[in-house]
Amino acid sequence: MFSIAKQSFLFGRKLAGISVPRVCFLHYGASSNVVANAVKFGSHDGQRRPTAKMPKLTDIGSRTLFGPEQDSFRETVRKFFQKEITPHSQAWNERGYTDKEIWEKAGSCGLLGINIPEEHGGIGGSFADACIIMEEHKYGSEEQKQKYIPDMTAGKKISAIAMTEPDAGSDLQGIKSFARKDGSDYILNGSKIFISTGWLADVVVVVAVTNKEAKSAAHGISLFIVDADTPGFKKSWLMKKIGLGASDTAGLFFEDVRLPASALLGEENKGFYYLMNELPQERLLIGVHACAQSEFMFEETKQYVMQRKAYGKTLSNLQTIQHKLAEMKTEICVARAFIDQCIALHEVQQLDAQMACMAKIWVSELENKIAAQCLQLHGEAGYLYDTPIARAYLDARVQTIYGGSNEVLKDLIARQILAPAKKI
Ligand SMILES: Cc1cc2nc3c(=O)[nH]c(=O)nc-3n(C[C@H](O)[C@H](O)[C@H](O)COP(=O)(O)OP(=O)(O)OC[C@H]3O[C@@H](n4cnc5c(N)ncnc54)[C@H](O)[C@@H]3O)c2cc1C
Repeated sequence: MFSIAKQSFLFGRKLAGISVPRVCFLHYGASSNVVANAVKFGSHDGQRRPTAKMPKLTDIGSRTLFGPEQDSFRETVRKFFQKEITPHSQAWNERGYTDKEIWEKAGSCGLLGINIPEEHGGIGGSFADACIIMEEHKYGSEEQKQKYIPDMTAGKKISAIAMTEPDAGSDLQGIKSFARKDGSDYILNGSKIFISTGWLADVVVVVAVTNKEAKSAAHGISLFIVDADTPGFKKSWLMKKIGLGASDTAGLFFEDVRLPASALLGEENKGFYYLMNELPQERLLIGVHACAQSEFMFEETKQYVMQRKAYGKTLSNLQTIQHKLAEMKTEICVARAFIDQCIALHEVQQLDAQMACMAKIWVSELENKIAAQCLQLHGEAGYLYDTPIARAYLDARVQTIYGGSNEVLKDLIARQILAPAKKI
């Protein structure tokens, strides 16, 4: 349940990044065997080349994590984005949200619920097949899975995750939304802000306090599945952001919202634990997205400097420009190696929180650096709002902020670094 809601969140962000007419992170598919072998042998099969050796970083058929089946899946997804998303990109970006129908189209093409088991209405693939989806169906009851997952997989229900509040961002334990017990029901009061797909959402996983007396705030937090038509649940206006224009972001308000016990996701007061368990995957996915965006921006820029005339030749004849391309390609390919290592580790449940944070921090910062450099190489053309490079530049900015701000994630890595020393 939780992970398919996350999937909607991430898919919504991807739809927003539609300046990018290329592979999305949805189709970084890999079979478990391929991944296991990559982890085991630490080298490629001798046939598939790393991205660095491909004519374009975005070419299909590279990377040892994947095989021919995943390549055709990638091809399908790429075509889907080119045909169904790119033509509407500008309109959705200006309007602030996508058409609801696109979710159903994505569902009918098998792009949602990829790693959710078939018996629960999902596609039944692996994490790497989806890459954006967590192995989270474990938190939902059988009834909840049957009620929501098939419709989410079909794109008929859009979901959101509501953690952040006006006075609680990084410090999630500071949330004030409270679900009071009333017989077997709960009465939910509170507000949320900056919720991705919050405006279109049909169903929202809401994080709320259920025990104010718990020994620490983390021990008194629960998750609830709230249908958008529940009395007392209201949505705010669309928040106008500098990037991810087509990703609807909204505030949510809960006034005496009565929820049956069946709305509780997992066990009462275990919500913080569930969230902590899932966040490494979300962080890896931000890294995966950041790497794909960097590759896309690099290829766009390479094409641009090869055709832009200057001094009787093209920009690509200037050595400073050539060196900039060489630096960017080197950095992106190094990032790609780490990201692929993380995907492979995650596939065999060996990715830890520290590595996920490293992937998120490093590659989101790289994405911003590449965006700034690519925009610079586009000159005035890069400053036009609706060019792919300007949109990618604006979309990149949030990557260091959400999913745990990079500063907060450094704290987490530092704790890991120092933990063994403390024990001695
Ligand atoms: C486009 C967008 C979509 C979002 N979607 C969702 C969503 O779907 N669901 C949801 O629940 N939330 C969502 N969020 C909210 C997101 O999770 C928060 O932005 C994030 O948790 C950071 O919180 P904050 O922005 O309130 O920053 P704050 O916590 O107010 O921090 C402000 C600054 O202080 C720094 N800082 C904070 N604590 C520390 C520390 N301990 N040490 C050093 N520096 C620190 C931060 O790094 C940051 O630079 C979204 C946000 C955006 C912008």
